[in-house]
Amino acid sequence: MNHFDLIDGVLHAENVSLADIADAVGTPVYVYSRATFERHAVVFRAALSGLDNPHLAFAVKSNPNLAVLKVLARQGYGADVVSGGEMDRALAAGMAAEDIVFSGVGKTAEEMTRALKIGIGQFNIESEEEGQELAALAAALGLTAQAVLRINPDVDAGTHGKISTGKADNKFGVGIHRAQGIYARLSILPHLHMRGVALHIGSQLTSLEPLETAFQKVGVLLQELRAAGHVVTHVDLGGGLGVRYRDGDNPPDPAEYGAMVARVTKDWGVRLMFEPGRVIAGNAGVLLTRVIRVKPGAGNAPFVIVDAAMNDLARPALYDAWHDFEAVVPNGHKMLANIVGPVCETGDTFAMGREIDPVMANDLAIFRTAGAYGATMASTYNSRGLVPEVLVDGDKFAVVAERISPETILAAEHVPDWLK
Ligand SMILES: *Cc1c(COP(=O)(O)O)cnc(C)c1O
Repeated sequence: MNHFDLIDGVLHAENVSLADIADAVGTPVYVYSRATFERHAVVFRAALSGLDNPHLAFAVKSNPNLAVLKVLARQGYGADVVSGGEMDRALAAGMAAEDIVFSGVGKTAEEMTRALKIGIGQFNIESEEEGQELAALAAALGLTAQAVLRINPDVDAGTHGKISTGKADNKFGVGIHRAQGIYARLSILPHLHMRGVALHIGSQLTSLEPLETAFQKVGVLLQELRAAGHVVTHVDLGGGLGVRYRDGDNPPDPAEYGAMVARVTKDWGVRLMFEPGRVIAGNAGVLLTRVIRVKPGAGNAPFVIVDAAMNDLARPALYDAWHDFEAVVPNGHKMLANIVGPVCETGDTFAMGREIDPVMANDLAIFRTAGAYGATMASTYNSRGLVPEVLVDGDKFAVVAERISPETILAAEHVPDWLK
């Protein structure tokens, strides 16, 4: 459920007309709904109410906007971060260092040192080498790193190849059959407190089956680790729950996910941790755009050229993703169209042969379900500005990330003296 609905024939975010936002801020612009973020945060937590004190860490990479993180911090969420930059954002949003989990295969020594100094809650170690380096860094600081070992369970998440992370040939985690040996060798290192395992098998999962299969494997590993004498107190089950992008998508309900988790993990006797991203942020944002012009196409479908492009919303170009497209003032009719942006490559195509609300030059429209992996992936390709973000709350709104103009970006470039 979300709060982007028609009021008197005009699409609103909560109680604010998207036309008003376009007037005030210009287009393209991402628009987020605070009520939707909060609702998703509450629903996800409620889905896990059968568990004992689960730890909830929002996957910052899905939407790192500071104001968004603040909304989630107020809902009691910590953060799953994958870089020092994300860690700084979580802290700036008021999340406690101990509620931050640090994932990623390429944590640098600088990043790990900073994380140790701020007292980060947990490192999700992705290789034996990383664990050894972390132990050495912690020793140098006279600190102890809290850590879990990310395992790669070798299951097919059944999602797009570029966002699948739990197959044996993916770069993430350590192979589950090597996990016991690595865990044992890392456990004896001073200054490294190994306290459990983690996994995250992919994103936009539309079936619970691969998750359950992976969790079962973790359950077996847990028994083996305990049989070998290890004390295991934490298991991080990652994120990955899919959302609805189009009619016919039928992602699992968070409540079904919670029930499955409760069933599979009931004898584990650990504190469970979660790293939801898309399921919290996906439907909490739209990309608001204006039609530049409509140009005839080769068949009977014209090209609707909008002012948003692949640099603003990369998912269609990257993952062949579908985003619903709707006019801000729909008239009830439909037309067949190809929706494209102004960027000079064919990858800059949002939809081909799509039945959409009829739109003309200057009309406003939205791409739905753009709250996750949207603005955060934006670039300045084609020397376009960096897209701004707006947060709506009831009948008020604020720019929570400014548009960065092409002039500002140009001003940061320099021609060396020897070229002048
Ligand atoms: C991306 C990521 C997540 C979030 O995934 P969603 O599909 O957005 O829930 C969680 N954990 C890790 C380690 C990730 O890389």
